[in-house]
Amino acid sequence: MSDLILVLNAGSSSIKFALYDAAEDLRLRLKGQVEGIGVAAHFSARDANGNSLGEQSWMDGIQPDHELATEFLMHWLRAEVADGRLVGVGHRVVHGGTRFSVPARIDSDVADYLSRLIPLAPLHQPHNLAPIRRIAQQSDAPPQVACFDTAFHRTRPEVEQALPLPREITGRGVRRYGFHGLSYEYIASKLPQIDPRAARGRTVVAHLGNGASLCGMLAGRSVATTMGFTALEGLMMGTRAGSIDPGVILYLFDTLHMNARDVSALLYKRSGLLGVSGISSDMRVLSASESARAREAIDLFAYRIVREIGSIAAALRGIDALVFTAGIGENAASVREAVCRGCDWLGVEMDEQANSGNQLRISSASSPVAAWVIPTDEELMVARHTRQLLRD
Ligand code: ADP
Repeated sequence: MSDLILVLNAGSSSIKFALYDAAEDLRLRLKGQVEGIGVAAHFSARDANGNSLGEQSWMDGIQPDHELATEFLMHWLRAEVADGRLVGVGHRVVHGGTRFSVPARIDSDVADYLSRLIPLAPLHQPHNLAPIRRIAQQSDAPPQVACFDTAFHRTRPEVEQALPLPREITGRGVRRYGFHGLSYEYIASKLPQIDPRAARGRTVVAHLGNGASLCGMLAGRSVATTMGFTALEGLMMGTRAGSIDPGVILYLFDTLHMNARDVSALLYKRSGLLGVSGISSDMRVLSASESARAREAIDLFAYRIVREIGSIAAALRGIDALVFTAGIGENAASVREAVCRGCDWLGVEMDEQANSGNQLRISSASSPVAAWVIPTDEELMVARHTRQLLRD
């Protein structure tokens, strides 16, 4: 019987999962997701070669919530991998607050603390915690580990984490936490093999997916990042605005008489690439579109990245390498090209052919700053942490 580690990544309407062999260098056994939770749930799973292992849709009747979807998944896994023994479950958890700078084995005290952080991340934290709760209720529950998106950024200097607000507000935990930490940590783990100079030096990593942020790393540790108190700050994203003048929000309340729920929906779900283009939040759709608004949305997306790279470069006092990752960073050559061109003053010299071919190194051999495309793997990072913590 092989020992297996399950990784769960629960978002607002989906639970992604991946199963690894604990002994065999964390070889991927299978992965999949339950998506459309709460609307029209759909389960699908594939083996490591991409072959389908199963699908199911919940069209009518009772729709599973996150807890029921977890239960379904655990049942399915038990039947699918009858030759395996689940020795641990690792969870991606968005918020570890000020307490956690490393992953934590979950007990009732840790679970209570993470529940108290729900007000800091109301759209994500409850969904992250639902599968944890459900699995803990099982009589033969495997040990569970929480890996935090905020943890990697706890190494940043206090001045990077502080917000210039009165103490009675900041004392309630209102500070810049930063997110996408598991992705950045994975990239930091790859850098020593790919670019030893950058691994020892100053690197800006651009995680450009539906959510998007930058991280400035010094010797592989986070020193600056664009996301802050919530995952709204910083770059323009698929449906999120990124940083905007807080005066706009006052205007929405006072002059347009919007309420907090409407403003939240506007900033999280109706802005960014979707809001500017009026077409889609999906970079593939926008790149293929003839519409001038789609072009404007992509141009604004790239421009804001260039501006923020300047800010991170200031925090790092220069850069040695620029890394692109996540869906857009790994695949959208035109976005990378616009960003690299905007960073020519920093010493980024792009190799057009390498860039259009999504190659690993996309800067010229003589470029003072190396530019790389490194696929991220947040699930594998969670699996590594889970195995490590359960061994200790
Ligand atoms: P998430 O943050 O949800 O994990 P991803 O990292 O999968 O998101 O990134 C999703 C984004 O990547 C979408 O905007 C999608 O259009 C974009 N993307 C994926 N593949 C391509 C591609 N081949 N060309 C351009 N954009 C792509």
